[in-house]
Amino acid sequence: MGTSRSKTAADAPEMPRFARHKLQNFINGEFVAPKSGRYLDDINPATEEVIAAIPDSDAGDVDAAVAAARAAFRSWSLTPADNRSRLLLKIADLIEKNFEELARLESADNGKPISLARRLDIPRAIANFRFFATAILHQASEAHLTDSTALNYTLRQPLGVAGLIAPWNLPLYLLSWKIAPAIAAGNTCVAKPSEMTPMTANRLAELLIEAGMPQGVINIVHGLGPTAGAAIAAHRDVPVLSFTGGTATGAKVAAAAAPLFKKVSLELGGKNPTIIFADADLEEAIPTSLRAAFWNQGEICLCGSRVFAQRPVFDKVVEGFFHGAKSLRIGDPLDDGTQIGALISAAHVDKVLGYVELARKEGGKIFTGGHRVERRGYFVEPTVITGLQSDCRVLQEEIFGPVVTITPFDDEAEVIAFANSTRYGLSSSVWTRDLQRAHRVAAAIESGTVWINCWLLRDLRVPFGGAKESGVGREGGFDSLEFFTEAKNVCVKL
Ligand code: NAD
Repeated sequence: MGTSRSKTAADAPEMPRFARHKLQNFINGEFVAPKSGRYLDDINPATEEVIAAIPDSDAGDVDAAVAAARAAFRSWSLTPADNRSRLLLKIADLIEKNFEELARLESADNGKPISLARRLDIPRAIANFRFFATAILHQASEAHLTDSTALNYTLRQPLGVAGLIAPWNLPLYLLSWKIAPAIAAGNTCVAKPSEMTPMTANRLAELLIEAGMPQGVINIVHGLGPTAGAAIAAHRDVPVLSFTGGTATGAKVAAAAAPLFKKVSLELGGKNPTIIFADADLEEAIPTSLRAAFWNQGEICLCGSRVFAQRPVFDKVVEGFFHGAKSLRIGDPLDDGTQIGALISAAHVDKVLGYVELARKEGGKIFTGGHRVERRGYFVEPTVITGLQSDCRVLQEEIFGPVVTITPFDDEAEVIAFANSTRYGLSSSVWTRDLQRAHRVAAAIESGTVWINCWLLRDLRVPFGGAKESGVGREGGFDSLEFFTEAKNVCVKL
């Protein structure tokens, strides 16, 4: 056991190299070892200890998982919606029953504060299964009457085996966001959690057995992106792919899928603007924008990492961020009171601190933070940077850590240009009391989601996805169910 990977602590040679859990792939309803017999270390980012060994799966394991999913497809796709719905509801109930254990696993595996896992990750995993379990009971299909000559009606049929690839920042939240609609719509699936955060996916597999999920409907393959992930993306018998991760990886997945004409949904990176106009309710805008910057250590694709404050309130916003960032409690993610946990890996700490260094070079002022915390684990101080221009690299590239920039602006046109100046377009927040301006700015911003006077208010029915290089396609509500089905028109001559 023990090929190292980027999450491994290169700087902690004294750490014991043992695995507490040996995870296996979940294929055809059973836990099976990877064909190669190779395993990877899974590290707790807060302690730098190895907490598990996970299969270093390759194309052979993916082949086995796809074969199981294919074999299960016919029966599952013909299972009445009501029965599928009941099984999904059962999974949701079991996640709820094991809520605290799952929250602890997520926190230990990812480094996130347990309070956040309890408030965000696990409730959302439950909600994902419940939402799509009930959504399939309320679906209608279309019909078009061609005068008095023909009746057209639309069949929405599942596609087969769905390939589902998820990142490490919201592990069970995002994996269930894909699994639930895929199987609710009648597909079977091969899901790959991130190699950085396999623990809750493994627990989910155990819960699937308890729920009585038919064999082969949900298969979970662990392993690295370039091997296991790439094998799913390029597999001939996987006609539909839902991928969430970085933009550069998304391009590789799209390239693998293109020659096979797969249906692809890509949820990618972001560099989201938070725009605070001078008339905003600062009592609300500053604390919420602070949360938008630093929740999950800034490791949420929707984090507002570029704050633009209108000149009359700029100093007040900077002051609010300064005090707010300094007061956030950094500590053991498993402590109830911790607000900032550990970053995912040593490599990610280097990346984030590299951007702080770049900010200095680009002429920025590090108002607060900017250092690794002196303790074991991958902790970085919440960092507030001012004095940078909108077109510099720190404001253009995704950092994905606890780093926020604050930039002044003069008027609406200028801030819209700033907001739209990156290659990303995932989400944005606009703070103003002027309703007409709010609507105008919302329409002008190039992003998949615009929050007005709020952040991360998510209704699972709404279309979710990115503009520009933040993604392709929309998921959420009936958009997800449409994505995971193919429309077929049946034309009947009257
Ligand atoms: P990543 O792109 O490195 O990895 C994501 C997943 O893809 C992992 O499971 C990984 O193993 C797999 N993978 C890697 N290379 C692959 C390949 N060649 N073929 C197939 N699969 C491959 O991303 P990450 O570092 O895990 O996550 C952080 C990124 O995810 C950030 O850019 C963040 O903005 C983005 N993200 C986006 C959303 C969204 O909804 N738009 C949500 C969360 C995270």
